[in-house]
Amino acid sequence: MVFKFQFNGSGSRCLWLSEDGSQIIVNAHSGGVDTCTDGAVCANCGAVYGEPAGHQWGEPEWTWAEDHSSAGVKFICQNDNSHIETVEAEISISTTEEDCTHDGESVYTAEAVFNKETYTDVWKKTIPMNGHSPGEEWKSDGTAHWKECEECGERLEEASHTFEWVTDKEATETEAGSQHEECSVCGYKKAAVEIPATGSSDAGDAGQRELLSVKEDQNK
Ligand SMILES: [Zn+2]
Ligand SMILES: [Zn+2]
Ligand SMILES: [Zn+2]
Ligand SMILES: [Zn+2]
Repeated sequence: MVFKFQFNGSGSRCLWLSEDGSQIIVNAHSGGVDTCTDGAVCANCGAVYGEPAGHQWGEPEWTWAEDHSSAGVKFICQNDNSHIETVEAEISISTTEEDCTHDGESVYTAEAVFNKETYTDVWKKTIPMNGHSPGEEWKSDGTAHWKECEECGERLEEASHTFEWVTDKEATETEAGSQHEECSVCGYKKAAVEIPATGSSDAGDAGQRELLSVKEDQNK
């Protein structure tokens, strides 16, 4: 007895009718496979009877713009690598400022929602420390001089003064002079001290020498 396909059955079955119309065979649909998006198709009657399997998304693949101002995440289906979904991410940036002695850092966080799940990727950029910026002027106290960092105020190039005597006013026979110690690096000055007048001692010796030579002359 020969059966030929008659019509789709109700729901999950297909019906076959004998040529003479005396018998009906009811079969479950068969053949075909479920794909990601479509149910299996019955090889006999062409009815869709399966359920879509759904995509099997692989690991997220991130792509950042060269300047990291934008990023996207791509998912590839492991069942069929022609199934690709790409989602543009939101970028947020948090920055820790650099200072004289510590590197700063910008943290770029990309966030994308795909299939109701949130995916994130992070890219970090180091901002190199500046190093200190010594001011032009020397600062000083009684014992040392230093330059101050214009950024953080730290003492730089700190060292003891290197004092040299500087004469403010030469002493004369009758008048005292003055001199002070001054740092050759920063110019810090100590209080001036007196140079005694030369008249009392030096002039006295010279006067005696003169007297002696006069006496020698007289003896000739
Ligand atoms: Zn069928
Ligand atoms: Zn798929
Ligand atoms: Zn500094
Ligand atoms: Zn000094």
